[in-house]
Amino acid sequence: MRSARDAGFVAGLRARIAGELRERESLARYSTYRIGGPATVLLPRSPEDVGAALRFAADGGVPWFALGLGSNLLLPDEGMDALVIRIGKGLDRLEALGGGGWRVGAGLPQPLAARKTAEQGFAGLHRFVGVPGTVGGGVYMNAGCHGGDWAGVVRSVVVVDPAGADRVLPRDAIPFGYRHSGLGGVVVLETTVALEPTDRAAIEAEVAELFRWRQEGTPFNQPCCGSVFKNPGGPSWKRPDAPRTAGQLIEAAGLKGTRVGGAEVSPMHANYFVNAGGATAAEVRGLIALARRAVRERFGVGLETEVKLVRPDGSFEPAEDPAGE
Ligand SMILES: Cc1cc2nc3c(=O)[nH]c(=O)nc-3n(C[C@H](O)[C@H](O)[C@H](O)COP(=O)(O)OP(=O)(O)OC[C@H]3O[C@@H](n4cnc5c(N)ncnc54)[C@H](O)[C@@H]3O)c2cc1C
Repeated sequence: MRSARDAGFVAGLRARIAGELRERESLARYSTYRIGGPATVLLPRSPEDVGAALRFAADGGVPWFALGLGSNLLLPDEGMDALVIRIGKGLDRLEALGGGGWRVGAGLPQPLAARKTAEQGFAGLHRFVGVPGTVGGGVYMNAGCHGGDWAGVVRSVVVVDPAGADRVLPRDAIPFGYRHSGLGGVVVLETTVALEPTDRAAIEAEVAELFRWRQEGTPFNQPCCGSVFKNPGGPSWKRPDAPRTAGQLIEAAGLKGTRVGGAEVSPMHANYFVNAGGATAAEVRGLIALARRAVRERFGVGLETEVKLVRPDGSFEPAEDPAGE
């Protein structure tokens, strides 16, 4: 495997794109955990830049990794050999198509998509006001909260494949599941969603209320990745009768406030592990292993990670508890 950190790769890619290419860039800047070592980071200016980068990486045998706002990731302390493609500005358009249809760029932050569509009197994306990632990351993760997820609004998704070609995937071709879309191996460029026309004042008031609820119930201002583990059995809003959420299990195991180095189980919400100061990825992994062990021993439940544990080559560690249930 070749590395995107090679000088020759960097020079070759720079000649092929209009956007910015940053070398030895600390990935801590690109993750809400504020954790991660150095990598080559592409800030594409257009969809064409993304296609050109994927083609050039494939030709050179260099792996790549798509990144939004890094709000669901634990990036490696040693940095990455994969080319990190940060989808943000330049891919962040928002356009009403009529009849409740909207085209939304992958780089638009979900809170902005939520607020801007609510301001126009449309419901559907409003629930994502407190999910601090991009639209692309939301679709890829099938992010969800407050009784809905991306699978419930998506009509189609435009992706670019490793050969650099754009493809339109209809909703039915995407195997959405709980925090899962099956969209591996492609970069999401934009999505078309179906929203509900509704009373503008009412939906704006709901957005304000959801945001207030978020700020009060989660350690919103501390570096973290949101929920570390998936809820056993599925999202809590789909199974209100489920025995316990991941947060309840970790809390019942007595782990609120437990630390490994700078990584801490939030005293506010036990399924949030925060970077309380200078935490490394190794420390967060240590805390994940500790919580899994405690919950398995106490309740016989194996917890699956929702946060993506990223390796230097851009692949993921398995989400399942390695010790099994
Ligand atoms: C405080 C806080 C609260 C949160 N609350 C929620 C919540 O209520 N519900 C919920 O579901 N999540 C929640 N999250 C997790 C996170 O915000 C979501 O998963 C979000 O959708 C991730 O978007 P992102 O742009 O940050 O993706 P990233 O973290 O950058 O990436 C996540 C995954 O998506 C892939 N990806 C990102 N962009 C693209 C793209 N354009 N094309 C292809 N793949 C891509 C990445 O490769 C990676 O595998 C929360 C996180 C935080 C920090």
